[in-house]
Amino acid sequence: MTELPDSPRGHLERPATKAALVIQHEILRAVREYLSESGFTELLPPVIGPVTDPGSRGAKQVDIDYYGHKYKLMTSAILYKQAALLTFDRIFYIAPNVRLEPPETSATHRHLTEFHQIDVEIAGASREDAMAVAEDIVRHAVRGALGRAGAEMAALGRTADAFVDLSSGPFDRVTHTDAVADLHRLGVPQSPDAEINWEAEEQLSRKASRPFFVTDYPKGSRGFYDREDPADPGRLRNFDLLAPEGFGELASGSEREFRYADLISRMRETGENPAKYAWYVEMARDGIPASAGFGIGAQRLTRYIAGLDAIWQATAYPKLPGVVSP
Ligand code: AMP
Ligand code: MG
Repeated sequence: MTELPDSPRGHLERPATKAALVIQHEILRAVREYLSESGFTELLPPVIGPVTDPGSRGAKQVDIDYYGHKYKLMTSAILYKQAALLTFDRIFYIAPNVRLEPPETSATHRHLTEFHQIDVEIAGASREDAMAVAEDIVRHAVRGALGRAGAEMAALGRTADAFVDLSSGPFDRVTHTDAVADLHRLGVPQSPDAEINWEAEEQLSRKASRPFFVTDYPKGSRGFYDREDPADPGRLRNFDLLAPEGFGELASGSEREFRYADLISRMRETGENPAKYAWYVEMARDGIPASAGFGIGAQRLTRYIAGLDAIWQATAYPKLPGVVSP
């Protein structure tokens, strides 16, 4: 069942919608409990700003008129997460993002124009520290859904069997280079210098039986804030977390650039004008902590855990790219 109902009522009154939203509620509850118990403070996320994350591939940003200044709706609150580390060492948001994705992505079953990220940032952390927290979040979310929304999971045909492999070992890690080689062996075209494209990512995801990490993406595939590896120039100290069964990407994260000079050169390399980022650049000039963090798509995580055909089934108010909806 992947047809979007033609009215908001049709969607909201469907029992499957209610089951998915109960599961999502328990996922978010479990994530909040885990993060709070691990010393994280939840902050309320910013919604608008003079700039937003430039790193979202192919998606258009939404401008608003802010007292005569052009502001943006957040496509990601990454810059604000780094800023928040001036106050706390470990923070998270459950943050709304708006991205006008290309209309053709309405067919991927994993793109919305309005979605939420479980957005985590950790001062002084390495990429590996951040990956460990991302892995813990997924495990707690699965446990929360099975433990507290077992009836709703069963109603959607999803049982503990789907998570036996997840429970039985650590998430695998593969470098971008090895993932590309693997794709070439499968006869799937993929550039070694670029982000893994959606079809290829789905192929990798299909082969897996539990979530896994892809690390060390090439420079040029990501925004200026993913830290370049000093030991391997041209590679980034970053990662994606992919779900199994063809569900694809769940999260992206990295160690962050935080040194003023490095940030400025990375901005210029990625075609961004540092002057546009004045508040952030000035803050970095005066010093921001080293950090690592990531964002897990809340609807993507719900889709994977609940085993939903399409991502819009994981939201009360679906907005699909190119589709006019309330
Ligand atoms: P990104 O910074 O683009 O990697 O986004 C962070 C996470 O947000 C991704 O790993 C996805 O889980 C989620 N996400 C990104 N774009 C979308 C979208 N258009 N619809 C739903 N979830 C998304
Ligand atoms: Mg990503």
